[in-house]
Amino acid sequence: MNVAAILKLKGRDVVTASPGTSLLEIAQRLGEHKIGCIVIVDEGGNVSGIVSERDIVRELARIGAPVMEEPVEVYMTKSVVTCREADTIDRLMGEMTAHRFRHMPVVERGRLVGLVSIGDVVRMRIAEAEMEAAAMRDYIATG
Ligand code: AMP
Repeated sequence: MNVAAILKLKGRDVVTASPGTSLLEIAQRLGEHKIGCIVIVDEGGNVSGIVSERDIVRELARIGAPVMEEPVEVYMTKSVVTCREADTIDRLMGEMTAHRFRHMPVVERGRLVGLVSIGDVVRMRIAEAEMEAAAMRDYIATG
């Protein structure tokens, strides 16, 4: 199973924001969409960063409430690890575990085409295990 299979199931919509968006607005959008991270894209549509609820909580604790008025570009993670549609789910699990993050934007030819979360990966892994178990049961029953 690969990233393309996940996107086929969940769709390709990604919630994005521009670098000048305030942290308050980012937090509101996280709440509105019930998600944990937002990809930051520049005017040309290129991925320029990623911000998750963890970044906001950390900066709120460090700086306090006034930080919410600051632009996200100051606090986002700028070195974004992305994946491609052909990447396997095993590879994504490895990257997420090694880097300790839960989201990976999918980029093809420089364009953002989707986003995969740890929840999507786990769901796909469970579906895969159930399919294997069903195939094994069929094999035993008909063998
Ligand atoms: P998360 O586990 O996704 O909430 O993110 C934990 C931390 O990793 C935050 O500082 C995020 O900005 C950062 N982060 C999340 N996803 C990525 C990614 N794909 N590449 C680089 N940093 C990331």
